[in-house]
Amino acid sequence: MDSLADPTSTPFEALPSAGDEAEPRSFLDRLFDRGHLVRTGIDGLYGRGGDFESVVEALDALVSRLGAADGAERIRFPPGMSRPAFERSGYLKGFPNLAGTVHSFCGDEAAHARLLACVEAGKDWTEDQACTDIVLTPAACYPLYPVAAARGPLPAEGLLFDLQSYCFRHEPSVEPTRMQMFRMREYVRMGSPEQVLAFREVWLERGTAMMRDLGLPLAVDPANDPFFGRAGRMLANNQRMQGLKFELNVPVNSTEQPTACLSFNYHQDHFGSTWEIGQADGAVAHTACVGFGLERITLALLRHHGLDLAAWPADVRKQLWG
Ligand code: ATP
Ligand code: ZN
Ligand code: MG
Repeated sequence: MDSLADPTSTPFEALPSAGDEAEPRSFLDRLFDRGHLVRTGIDGLYGRGGDFESVVEALDALVSRLGAADGAERIRFPPGMSRPAFERSGYLKGFPNLAGTVHSFCGDEAAHARLLACVEAGKDWTEDQACTDIVLTPAACYPLYPVAAARGPLPAEGLLFDLQSYCFRHEPSVEPTRMQMFRMREYVRMGSPEQVLAFREVWLERGTAMMRDLGLPLAVDPANDPFFGRAGRMLANNQRMQGLKFELNVPVNSTEQPTACLSFNYHQDHFGSTWEIGQADGAVAHTACVGFGLERITLALLRHHGLDLAAWPADVRKQLWG
């Protein structure tokens, strides 16, 4: 873990000009202007244009190439997960404010008439909406743990999964990098502490090299999750002090507050004990995951190399499209 002790952090240089300084327009507005993102009227909820998507797809494929030799099992879950599984996962303890539940109309015809009248009058129409069995996925790895647990004890070499999912977090923002619905690509490792820490070390190196090769300034730093409330502050401090989470940050909105584009998380036995996942020798499994924020990396590329993909540096284009 020594490499983690000396952060690669260097002070960032000023960001490239955001355009015509005489008439400053936000990065988000310029993304709309160029059709990279498509307005919906809701902060953090956007359509993606064709060029934007082609970068997301190329990044997804690049991450696949980096991990290809490891033989990860590929699974794609839809962007909703089982509510009982979500409840058991502990997400509500740490992040009740970010969670999104799926509700649906469950009333009779009279209730339907009431609903329509409320919509018509601009009043609250949600009275007969009831919580369904589905919750929006908060991180790509959340639906995986119960699936792995159901398979019984891990093999001696542990398990490795490749995931990608749209995720939801209720954190509306006008920063384009903080969306409410975004895609997270993940590799998830389950096994002994040694196995999962070795995995995280490998991906810290691979992820850093990948982002350097994409021509992005970066710093890898200790981080914490935004645990809710006063008790959450203690959890966050512990997480940071124990070196459980690292983020790869790139200046996108500002140099002072760079954006986490990748994260490297060691959960210790949190999910192993929550889901009763056992190692081959009977000990509780440890888990780790590496997450790639596909939209955030795309936005970092657009911020640093410009909004015109054809004008990106040739070596960056080569990394992405061969
Ligand atoms: P932040 O500290 O910026 O809120 P995070 O700690 O919540 O980030 P993780 O929970 O580690 O991020 O999520 C894994 C990856 O998903 C992040 O590294 C990031 O690239 C991406 N991500 C997280 N939240 C968002 C968001 N609101 N919009 C777009 N991408 C996101
Ligand atoms: Zn994860
Ligand atoms: Mg967050």
